[in-house]
Amino acid sequence: ATQPYDDQNIFAKILRGEIPSKRVYEDDHALAFHDINPQAPQHILVIPKGSYVSWDDFAAKAPDAEIAGFVRAVGHVAREAGMVEPGYRLLANVGQDGHQEVPHLHVHIFAGRPLGQMLA
Ligand code: 5GP
Repeated sequence: ATQPYDDQNIFAKILRGEIPSKRVYEDDHALAFHDINPQAPQHILVIPKGSYVSWDDFAAKAPDAEIAGFVRAVGHVAREAGMVEPGYRLLANVGQDGHQEVPHLHVHIFAGRPLGQMLA
């Protein structure tokens, strides 16, 4: 079972504007901002505006319109940032073994250098 959503998590505070972030995109369903500790020259996080703990929670519970909006937002952010050529990587960590640290669903977008083989 998924843990209950904690509305004091750091990304909930970013969504509410209670703590600052370097925002790059926002629409009805999603917010994108720069990761505070970038692991690539471009490292953007995209989060849904709804309260979902993880990819698992989102996939199971979100209305289709929110899922479609979020997926399109991720693609839009990468395209608008000029990442499509030469390419980028998407990552969503889930749960303990996935090393998810912030319990609000986020997709990482990495770009700006050859990213090499996927790390385990
Ligand atoms: P996770 O391990 O949960 O997939 O990734 C969490 C990510 O959130 C990390 O890459 C971390 O650098 C980033 N992060 C944590 N706290 C903050 C914050 O307050 N602001 C921003 N912009 N990024 C954060």
